[in-house]
Amino acid sequence: MKSRFVTCLNCIDGRVQLPVIQWIMENYDVEYVDMITTPGMDGILSDNNSNIDDIQKKIKLSITVHLTSYIFIIGHHKCLANPVTSKIHKEQIIKSVQRIKKLYPTHNRAMD
Ligand SMILES: [Zn+2]
Repeated sequence: MKSRFVTCLNCIDGRVQLPVIQWIMENYDVEYVDMITTPGMDGILSDNNSNIDDIQKKIKLSITVHLTSYIFIIGHHKCLANPVTSKIHKEQIIKSVQRIKKLYPTHNRAMD
């Protein structure tokens, strides 16, 4: 049976919670978005030397308890924790997807 949950790796920024959830729910046939946040998520995930143990513990919960269907990775404009250009955000999201894809090969999607 298809899971009703997806997992989203997002910034803590309050401006990008509802728009992201709404976008996912409009574009995917799911009911719930497990939101895992850290300041400047795309900057953290795209740095292959960063420690993401805590994020991975939360992803594991979402996968094992909610049988999540997809993992989304978010970067956004005017990020205070990761103040880079839009072009760099896009590059970081791609790098982040590559890193997460290796760890969870059947659970990822990206948007910007
Ligand atoms: Zn941010």
